[in-house]
Amino acid sequence: MLAALATTFGLHRRGGGTSLVMVQRLRGRAAGEGSSDGWCSSRAVMVDAVVVGAGPNGLVAANHLADAGWSVTVLEAAPEPGGAVRTGELTLPGYRHDLFSAFYPLAAAAPTLRDLRLEEHGLRWCRAPLVLAHALRDGGSVAISTDVDATAASVDRFARGDGDAWREMYRQWTSLRGHFVEALFRPFPPVRPVVRLLAGLGPTGALRFARHLLLPARRMSEELFAGEGGGLLLGGNALHTDLSPESAGSGLYGWLLCCLAQEHGFPVPEGGAAGLTDALVRRLASRGGTVRCGCTVAQIVVRRGRAVGVRTANGEIVEAGRAVLADVAAPALYGGLVSAADLPGELLDDVGRFQWDMGTVKVDWALDGPIPWLSDECRQAGTVHVADDFDNFTEYAAHVAMRMLPARPFLVVGQQSISDPTRSPPGTETAWAYTHVPRDVHHDAAGELDVSRGGEAWAEAFADRMEARIEERAPGFRARVRGRHVFSPAGLEAADANLAGGAVNGGTSQLHQQLVLRPVPGFGRAETPIAGLYLASAAAHPGGGVHGGAGANAARAALLPARRPRAWVLGRGRIGRRGPPPA
Ligand SMILES: Cc1cc2nc3c(=O)[nH]c(=O)nc-3n(C[C@H](O)[C@H](O)[C@H](O)COP(=O)(O)OP(=O)(O)OC[C@H]3O[C@@H](n4cnc5c(N)ncnc54)[C@H](O)[C@@H]3O)c2cc1C
Repeated sequence: MLAALATTFGLHRRGGGTSLVMVQRLRGRAAGEGSSDGWCSSRAVMVDAVVVGAGPNGLVAANHLADAGWSVTVLEAAPEPGGAVRTGELTLPGYRHDLFSAFYPLAAAAPTLRDLRLEEHGLRWCRAPLVLAHALRDGGSVAISTDVDATAASVDRFARGDGDAWREMYRQWTSLRGHFVEALFRPFPPVRPVVRLLAGLGPTGALRFARHLLLPARRMSEELFAGEGGGLLLGGNALHTDLSPESAGSGLYGWLLCCLAQEHGFPVPEGGAAGLTDALVRRLASRGGTVRCGCTVAQIVVRRGRAVGVRTANGEIVEAGRAVLADVAAPALYGGLVSAADLPGELLDDVGRFQWDMGTVKVDWALDGPIPWLSDECRQAGTVHVADDFDNFTEYAAHVAMRMLPARPFLVVGQQSISDPTRSPPGTETAWAYTHVPRDVHHDAAGELDVSRGGEAWAEAFADRMEARIEERAPGFRARVRGRHVFSPAGLEAADANLAGGAVNGGTSQLHQQLVLRPVPGFGRAETPIAGLYLASAAAHPGGGVHGGAGANAARAALLPARRPRAWVLGRGRIGRRGPPPA
């Protein structure tokens, strides 16, 4: 059976697990068709749809198109599929590190991914005993468990009554989450789920809920909780975006992730993040779709206002009979992949104002034992947040905004072996942490690191600062480090072009670049000014995170003309007619 599979697909071993990458990559190579770009052949190929980029959004889009009976080819620049959902041995043999993302509450909740039933294609979710803990300096902590009473008890330790406040927050979530989650992940404007949501809330309730969603995380924490614990959970989760806890709308992210954590946990795929990618690739293969790796797309070919295919970096043309879906960064799509001559000048001006999210430094560790946190809750949680108090969130965000390396970086720490023991040899731990830094570093807020030479020479010393933050809360941590790998912002971008400058969410999550304003005003849907071309990446609504929403929306938009031949692009800058391509 394995031999038969290996003939049909390229079968690659990644540490202890197995991943499937489609056959073209290997055939092209064997036939000597390769070039410096990879293994793309020079033959013209014709499919219904070309998807550029095999990140989660590209793969979700490809699966939806294949489900509709379209022939689909996904072209991926990296040597393996997955985008920011990949796993590899970065440090020592036997330690499987998630190269980028690791925890998937959004994937567990979003219908766009859930409906693909990836469990039938090999995906297995694992969960840690506790979902998430916040580690305080003195060894104190607060934690989320999937048992609401346990979470309430943890929050209640900070102020009597806060446990009930948590329960009430979660009760409100469970009463509206169906329509809310539907509204979040479906194309904008999500008329039906919003109408149902409003009908359930009533006019005043709807206005109150709108106010709740617009609150800064600090204000939401103050309104909901008397003690520090609940607020730390809201604030830490809000900072998974690039929003400051003082920004309007940051409360929404904190609330959403806290409630998802409460309901679904922060699950991880068994064997590593790549388990999710592998399931998407397998499912696509089972429907005849292909993924070609090592194949960079250099140009979207546009004829008479319509995308008709792509040209790869080594000159191959892949023709798309019906659509091209781009799982690429918005500035890359509108700043080179599509010729400026094919785009409205207004759009190009708007793209000039596109705002990326912050840079990121990510550190991976191979440890010879679990992190020796002082707090028992932290020892049981798959994800740990590190910040001294709520003001530390604000100070950190302010330092980044002022182009300073933060003096006391807020850390998101992952202890992967606690959720999934297959990640490292028995008794050891595979861990990672990331924090954000300015895209353009001018100073070090702690006055310790020389950033004047430009470049990223400061990255290793900054990783030491991150380690010190853990060591304070887990004395003996450093002595357990057997191997370490540091991803600087440039390193992240080199591994995945969409992570430009270390951005993790495809552009800022601030209100001025959301919904109808994402990625630029007037293009809040997957449609672009070019007929047959759809933006399918986190740069499009609903933004960053692994949920496949942007990919599913792009696929839905691409399929629409087949059902409704003469629909026009909504909004300004319409150029091409939707519908079948010109003969
Ligand atoms: C360090 C880090 C931690 C994160 N943690 C989490 C987490 O725990 N949970 C979570 O939900 N999210 C997390 N995220 C965010 C999440 O990973 C991203 O939002 C998500 O991967 C975006 O998916 P995407 O498909 O839009 O883009 P990507 O995953 O970036 O994939 C894009 C793909 O397109 C390819 N590509 C780009 N240009 C071309 C081209 N011209 N030709 C061919 N191929 C091209 C790239 O190589 C890449 O493979 C994290 C991100 C990072 C970087």
